Amino acid sequence: MRTKIVAGNWKMNLDVRASQTLAQEISMFVEKMETPHTRVIIAPTYTNLYPVYHHTKLDHRIEVAAQNMHQAKNGAFTGEISAEMLLSIGIKTVILGHSERRQYFNETDEALAAKMLTILNNNMEAIFCFGEVLEDRKSGNHFKVVESQLKNGLFHLSANDWKSIVLAYEPVWAIGTGETASPEQAQEMHAFIRTVISAQYGAEVADSVSILYGGSVKASNAAEIFSQPDVDGGLIGGAALVAEDFAKIIQGTL
Ligand code: PEP
Repeated sequence: MRTKIVAGNWKMNLDVRASQTLAQEISMFVEKMETPHTRVIIAPTYTNLYPVYHHTKLDHRIEVAAQNMHQAKNGAFTGEISAEMLLSIGIKTVILGHSERRQYFNETDEALAAKMLTILNNNMEAIFCFGEVLEDRKSGNHFKVVESQLKNGLFHLSANDWKSIVLAYEPVWAIGTGETASPEQAQEMHAFIRTVISAQYGAEVADSVSILYGGSVKASNAAEIFSQPDVDGGLIGGAALVAEDFAKIIQGTL
């Protein structure tokens, strides 16, 4: 059975106190939940990783992830963070390739392919994001775009490496827009993603990787989207900043 995952991407929001408060509120909801098989991940901004992870009373099921990481070991990369730095504070999971990184910080498939090698060399885990923009969907190019993002970012890896990957399909037109892919659109793309992976790595890898959906998931639509057979949970932006909403979304994996 594939692992269900709900991950909250807090983006560039909340100062240290507000991050700790939100983490604690989420934790209190999670403590009472009967979702023993769902992984719950929160991704605060860099400055808040340590205080949230080490100085906040959190339920043991809550994991803390980073929102990005540089591929180099160290060096003259002003403003960047390395794998070693994250590991030194106990962070092992990193969101990579978020559309905002691709769009505003020119993060390329090539850079992501290199970041993936750094993740693997350090025994870390990536939540690898990808998805088409609105023009691609409108022109019917969305499958092609998604396939090429997958191939360019991940297909240099071995079958065994896929144990360290969680995929997050996030159609860019649905991120932060309030417009969600329909459950059918999400299922269609997730099934396609498994077909592409299967052609390269075989059915076992394709069937075992968790594929999250991201794009305006809310308390009110989560359960329906997550009930699709190839959707294994969600990567959540806006709704992850409200503890009660995030908790309801986690409940949607039941
Ligand atoms: C995201 O940023 O990954 C995301 C899915 O955002 P939102 O839920 O706000 O659309």
